[in-house]
Amino acid sequence: MNGKYEAVIGLEVHAQMLTQSKAFCACTTTFGNGPNHNTCPVCLGMPGVLPVLNRKLVEYILAMGLATNCSITQRSVFARKNYFYPDLPKGYQISQYEDPICQFGHLDVELNDGTVKHIGITRIHMEEDAGKLVHDMHVDTLVDVNRCGVPLIEIVSEPDMHTSHEAYQYLSMIKQIVTYLGICDGNMEEGSLRCDANVSVRLRGTDKLGTRTEVKNLNSFRNVERALEYEIARQIALIEDGGRVVQETLIWDADRNVALSMRSKEEAHDYRYFPDPDLVPVVVSDAWIERVRAELPELPQKRRDRFVADFHLPKYDADILTLERPLAEYYETAAGCLSAKNPETFKAVSNWVMTDVLRAVKESNITIADFPVTPAHLSAMVNLITEGTISGKIAKDVFEEMLAGGEAPMAIVQRKGLVQISDTGAIEAIINEILAANAAQVEQYRAGKTQVFGFFVGAAMKAMKGKANPNIVNALLKKKLDV
Ligand code: ADP
Ligand code: MG
Ligand code: ZN
Repeated sequence: MNGKYEAVIGLEVHAQMLTQSKAFCACTTTFGNGPNHNTCPVCLGMPGVLPVLNRKLVEYILAMGLATNCSITQRSVFARKNYFYPDLPKGYQISQYEDPICQFGHLDVELNDGTVKHIGITRIHMEEDAGKLVHDMHVDTLVDVNRCGVPLIEIVSEPDMHTSHEAYQYLSMIKQIVTYLGICDGNMEEGSLRCDANVSVRLRGTDKLGTRTEVKNLNSFRNVERALEYEIARQIALIEDGGRVVQETLIWDADRNVALSMRSKEEAHDYRYFPDPDLVPVVVSDAWIERVRAELPELPQKRRDRFVADFHLPKYDADILTLERPLAEYYETAAGCLSAKNPETFKAVSNWVMTDVLRAVKESNITIADFPVTPAHLSAMVNLITEGTISGKIAKDVFEEMLAGGEAPMAIVQRKGLVQISDTGAIEAIINEILAANAAQVEQYRAGKTQVFGFFVGAAMKAMKGKANPNIVNALLKKKLDV
């Protein structure tokens, strides 16, 4: 980026809550039902009906507020945000405006260079989603209001970020926290986590905020990064050309890699916010807050640090293993099943999870919860390696078999006769044969071309179908060659 300027970024993140029913009525939130099936007079905005707040939504937002160091407003109210759009039957969205339920939070976000960035969270409030417009191939626009009234929380950050990387890391952390809490599935591509980015630039060293634009339609992490880079560069170029940034809303076009002007930015007064007279204030007692706090799961950064401390794992491993809660659980269960618990075996399990398990999960396009190799089987296999029953190489085959059939590793080893040969006599006999049959290579080795050592190891392992104990093979070969 141009060193003369500094970008300023604030994110507004919407997370769709995993409640079973909508925010203010009993309609289901199930996705995929026929258009307009999940509706009732309340979410259709019929006159004379009354909304009733979903208690679960409050539980969820309290959990998020506590997880992001917010203070909880113990008496908060809902407001109507008025605007006209065909996907909004009521003509207003129920939201929170003044005194939202969570305020003054922050996250300590880790950057790739290892530094930690403190990012303020202005507020987190509850609101309802709008419907969906479906534009068909020709001229018609169809309206599906199934999503009307589906509960959302909106997490608004302070303008504390200055690079697309910082925004990316912040958003990753939000995603990690909502999924750890189990309140949102965190899927940006499917729209259950959405991000609008507010961007401005200013001369480096000054602290007055520049005029911002808001970029919408960022439906992937990659798009957030690209759109921010685009918009920062555009604003700088504009100012350098003697122009001025206009406050407006832009829409990101991922196919063309550009942000297009959508509308001039509306101001709060355009929405004519006022307290919703149909809903009573949300009152949260101390006891309720303390119960939610007590039920919070271990959060990602804490779990990561505990993995480093308890399992002596490198931070790199712990970061990957705790990225998603089910994976962290998988690792932890596997580690708990080890017969010998020490830094080596903990690391061995970590290696298997980070490489083979994650690869297989990705290739078969399933979640770790449906993974055919149970954590107990994975650690049983590591136990077999540790005890010397199988070699690490044979273990790869055993793993493939477990993947295909879900069988226990020992059963596979027995059925396929894979037990490692540690019988020194048997290995020595094979090695003698190989040395005799390859006199030329033996000469080379003894003449100083020690690279041929690998050739002998390979030949011995091949002759014993990979089952020879590699330590014994190496030791015997050394002994016989180094005379
Ligand atoms: P609105 O709801 O109208 O978009 P807010 O005042 O709630 O406006 O701000 C929304 C987001 O924009 C927040 O994340 C805030 O940090 C960010 N923001 C506000 N001013 C600026 C600015 N000048 N540059 C970059 N981001 C900004
Ligand atoms: Mg906004
Ligand atoms: Zn309804």
